[in-house]
Amino acid sequence: MTKKNNMAVEILSWYDANAREMPWRIPPLNSKMGTIPNPYYIWMSEVMLQQTTVAAVKEYFVKFITLWPTVDDMANAKDEDVMGAWAGLGYYARARNLLKCARVVKDQYGGKFPCNEKDLLSLPGIGPYTAAAIMSIAFNKKAIVLDGNIERVMSRIYAVQEPLPASKKDLWLLASDLTPENRCGDYAQSVMDLGATICTPRNPKCSICPWNYNCEGLIRGIADGLPNKTPKRTKPTRAGTAYVAIRNDKSILLERRSEKGLLGGMLGWPGSDWDNVPSNYTEPLKADWHTLNESVRHTFTHFHLELTIKIAFNVKGTPRVGKFITKENFKPNDLPTVMRKVWIEASKFLK
Ligand code: SF4
Repeated sequence: MTKKNNMAVEILSWYDANAREMPWRIPPLNSKMGTIPNPYYIWMSEVMLQQTTVAAVKEYFVKFITLWPTVDDMANAKDEDVMGAWAGLGYYARARNLLKCARVVKDQYGGKFPCNEKDLLSLPGIGPYTAAAIMSIAFNKKAIVLDGNIERVMSRIYAVQEPLPASKKDLWLLASDLTPENRCGDYAQSVMDLGATICTPRNPKCSICPWNYNCEGLIRGIADGLPNKTPKRTKPTRAGTAYVAIRNDKSILLERRSEKGLLGGMLGWPGSDWDNVPSNYTEPLKADWHTLNESVRHTFTHFHLELTIKIAFNVKGTPRVGKFITKENFKPNDLPTVMRKVWIEASKFLK
């Protein structure tokens, strides 16, 4: 048996005993007995897992498949219901693409996900990583799955010292070399699990790792520091203002953000652009606005945001933007996290 085959056998037998339980996953014993994963579940989980932890995703995944059990149900869902259910998970373009993708799968593929990478890649929101993960996990076909966990494991196994992201192509080739022809889905998930539980970013547990005899990084004593990374640029801080207007009957002014851009399509507070230049934003309606002492700070992928909050009570008249939502219909949990933070501060001043 070649070293490569040996390593696949070792990690698969480790996986058989140690696989993490996940609501979208077929446990290895059932997988070996021929139970097939639901491609809709695998697609949904992989979209949710982009930039998000397993712990954060589990609850949302269960909520989504309960509300929309099939891809046809998702395709027929109302946009605002899906955006509301996604609130808090972040990276909202994923929710918009989820809907678009479900509608293409329903209309062009008869409600079945295509079983080849080329067609998968043509679907909204599916990039090379997600296409490979669906091919491998949902259809048990050989595909090279390379997420952050697997990049770290490959860097260490092969002692790759070139920093990420420049080393990505090499890591892909190395991962490709190790990927077996059989049990492709279980293999991909076994390396993901190894990276998440044993080969962790700090203090990897090499003594109990099934690959420790083959790990060049461990042998050379440099595993802990790998992968090397090109230093990130420090994030700038931007500023903006959010307006919280409340009527006498406690209804609240909200505005749906435009489809394009950050938090596109989500509900939020009317407010200025987020930049550092003095804003010429016109208040959403004439009122006695008070500026709160506490601002809200939130970090996005590329910048920090400092939001000043202005609040007005007993407002009257028709707003220039947005619309009033009754107290009964206002669900703070449907707001994206930064907007929810604004509400937490503003609601302290509710009379
Ligand atoms: S031996 Fe250690 S560094 Fe190497 S793959 Fe296993 S856990 Fe990671």
